[in-house]
Amino acid sequence: MEVYRHIHELIGSTPMLELTAFPLPRRVRLFAKLEYTNPGGSIKDRLGIKLLKEAIATGKITPKGTLIEPTAGNTGIALALAAIGTDVKVICVVPKAFSIEKQQLMRALGAVIVHTPSEHGMKGAIAKAKALEQELDDAYCPQQFSNKANPLAYYETLGPEIVHELDGKVDVFVAGAGTGGTFSGTAAYLKEVIPGIRTVVVEPEGSILNGGEPGPHRTEGIGMEFIPDFVNRSLFEAIYTISDNQAFKRTRELAEHQGVLVGSSSGAALEAALREAEMADEGAHIVTVFPDGAERYLSKGIYEEEPL
Ligand code: PMP
Repeated sequence: MEVYRHIHELIGSTPMLELTAFPLPRRVRLFAKLEYTNPGGSIKDRLGIKLLKEAIATGKITPKGTLIEPTAGNTGIALALAAIGTDVKVICVVPKAFSIEKQQLMRALGAVIVHTPSEHGMKGAIAKAKALEQELDDAYCPQQFSNKANPLAYYETLGPEIVHELDGKVDVFVAGAGTGGTFSGTAAYLKEVIPGIRTVVVEPEGSILNGGEPGPHRTEGIGMEFIPDFVNRSLFEAIYTISDNQAFKRTRELAEHQGVLVGSSSGAALEAALREAEMADEGAHIVTVFPDGAERYLSKGIYEEEPL
């Protein structure tokens, strides 16, 4: 009998699924890490637990302190989950328009939500979180956008899992970037242990990596308004800018043909991975990451032809 004793033990070691429902040229194989199987439902669970432990270990807060974080949702859920069974309080500063399901999940896990105007973007949420950190006693804002623990969480866990699961046979790594933590940490690890691996990044339209202007997009969780210092741009061997329509279309196909229920950042990652497959060598292994699940976007019409 194998029994877990704490929900935190279930974070990470997510399944690797080969995607077999999409036609691929030249015996190319495509794999995806199903990060929605984490207990908080996203890739960010790996980060939440690390940020909370680090905040206490370095004395930024006492074990009864407050963590305040600007978040589109998944990092907030992850921090709230990390605080379960501790006396740490969590305040999530969220631009108002982000998915209502994610906000409900944060609250269910005991977090307090503070809204900022959607039109002020993540920058508005970051400014508000910093102001709250000053106002409150025993409070700390880990700031996923500037904290090296962010890429490190993925360097230490996601990278090694991918290498282990595919016996080191990875030719191309494809991942979306919001903070860039997942991409930077994982790509850095893979580059160290797999010579010649190609690492490519994915963003929605309305993100700046390909020189575009920051603007609104429906694909949640990815897209950059600025590039955090911990992001090493030399790891961007290609940058795919995927429209919301393309991302949502792939997200619907993943459900219909593969039985994989994921958010639209996964659809964007799939579209980029399929484009890589078109130019990959014979028999190449392409690995991507599906950061979260579909259920937190049902109210946004993720499965409607015309999203709500
Ligand atoms: N997809 C979703 C749904 C997310 O919530 C996030 C986290 N913002 C990402 C992708 C990208 O992760 P990162 O912040 O590590 O770039």
